[in-house]
Amino acid sequence: MSWSVAVVGAGPSGLFAAQSLIRKRPDIHIDIYDRLPTPFGLLRYGVAPDHTSIKSVAVALARTFEAEQVHFRGLVHFGKDVTRNDLLGAYDAVIYAVGASEDLRLNILGEELIGSTSAREFVAWYSGHPDARDYGLTGVTSVMAVGVGNVAVDVARILAKDARALDSTDMPETVLGELRRAAVRDIWLVGRRGAQHAKFTPVELRELLKTPGLAVDCDPADLDGIDEDHLDRRTSTNLSLLREAQSGAFDGEVRCTLHLRFWRRPLELRGDSEVESVVLGGTRLDDDGRVVDSGLREEIPTDLVLRAIGYRSVPLPGVSFDADRGIVPNSEGRVLTPDGAICPREYVVGWIKRGPIGVIGTNKSDANQTVTHLLADLDPNSSVSTVESRRRLSDTLAARGVSPSSFDDWKRIEKAETNLGMQHERDRTKIETWHELLDLCRSR
Ligand SMILES: Cc1cc2nc3c(=O)[nH]c(=O)nc-3n(C[C@H](O)[C@H](O)[C@H](O)COP(=O)(O)OP(=O)(O)OC[C@H]3O[C@@H](n4cnc5c(N)ncnc54)[C@H](O)[C@@H]3O)c2cc1C
Repeated sequence: MSWSVAVVGAGPSGLFAAQSLIRKRPDIHIDIYDRLPTPFGLLRYGVAPDHTSIKSVAVALARTFEAEQVHFRGLVHFGKDVTRNDLLGAYDAVIYAVGASEDLRLNILGEELIGSTSAREFVAWYSGHPDARDYGLTGVTSVMAVGVGNVAVDVARILAKDARALDSTDMPETVLGELRRAAVRDIWLVGRRGAQHAKFTPVELRELLKTPGLAVDCDPADLDGIDEDHLDRRTSTNLSLLREAQSGAFDGEVRCTLHLRFWRRPLELRGDSEVESVVLGGTRLDDDGRVVDSGLREEIPTDLVLRAIGYRSVPLPGVSFDADRGIVPNSEGRVLTPDGAICPREYVVGWIKRGPIGVIGTNKSDANQTVTHLLADLDPNSSVSTVESRRRLSDTLAARGVSPSSFDDWKRIEKAETNLGMQHERDRTKIETWHELLDLCRSR
């Protein structure tokens, strides 16, 4: 039997799923759709540009396309260019791997002011995502990241670093230029719970705290009186790192100060049309462990507020969705209706399956689990898909004016980025505009 599977989303989870499929069933045909002409999802557009070793996972993921039965179909937006019914009519199974493309909001007064945005959008900008809007950092001296997870740490580090230290990354030239001109003096990291509850991991925290030219300001009281008997290793290491940074004398020239503010949450962003300050409210835990107002108030002059309190997935048209949990409801990757019944031939992997948690590697075992169920569910005696059913889908897309890009198109983008990098004496420089990406796809 010759089966075929459509994967929607060419991020790490979609590519791990495809790799798992071909490893287990080398004869299976796989088409991987993405709305972008570039594969790798957040590995390309989320993982920080200066984290080059994790970025190199892309080399291993690109091997997915070496198998001749695996095809990349970029520039196809599920829900706009192609529908659930289209895919279920052409393939034996569909795997949704679209990640989490939105973020959580603070829902406070002033959140709509200019200068209030999400870390997600800021990350998209410095990563050269074609949908990202430009950021002007001229005149920005004080930046507040709301949240104490690794995304907040990433944006703080990128802003704290001397831009010359970012020359070796693949950031777009426009972004590097803006960061070179920037003169951020104060970076605030604000967490509504204590240092012992922060989600950042020691490797990322240590890297931030050791940024050359960065002084650290953390209230010693926030690190005192913590019952450390039952803390996990990650948290104990975080606390040691914070204590060391807070007590360490800073020798050398201070370019920027990192202010860590635990037990605070933003209550209001103030300013006429642009953010000028943030009112923080103190917090504490009540007897039931809930975060409540401590009554303390503090107003901090700020030019840019980046909320980094979590990503969230958006519903896919026609596909089951659990709005409360922000995921496609599923049982180990098998898509379920809201009532818990199995949706035959539909599967999920990655952040849309389990929520926006976990590192790149987490998506591998997660994809394996889904693929094991998918293969067990395939009917050994029949197949929905044929070469003809897939050709009909290609004709439908063409009739809609949709012209999918291929992996060769991506290789052309990659080559152009390497060439652009050479012009600036860098290994690679990302191309960040839609029109340039599309031109490269059309120059076949
Ligand atoms: C800022 C940030 C930094 C991170 N840093 C690290 C790190 O240093 N190390 C680490 O291990 N992990 C890191 N992670 C986590 C890692 O990026 C995720 O675990 C991983 O990317 C999730 O993979 P995914 O395939 O589920 O989603 P994604 O990577 O988001 O991929 C989803 C893909 O689906 C496509 N898509 C979305 N909607 C549609 C649609 N409607 N139609 C067609 N295609 C669609 C997208 O274009 C994208 O290519 C980071 C995450 C973030 C947000």
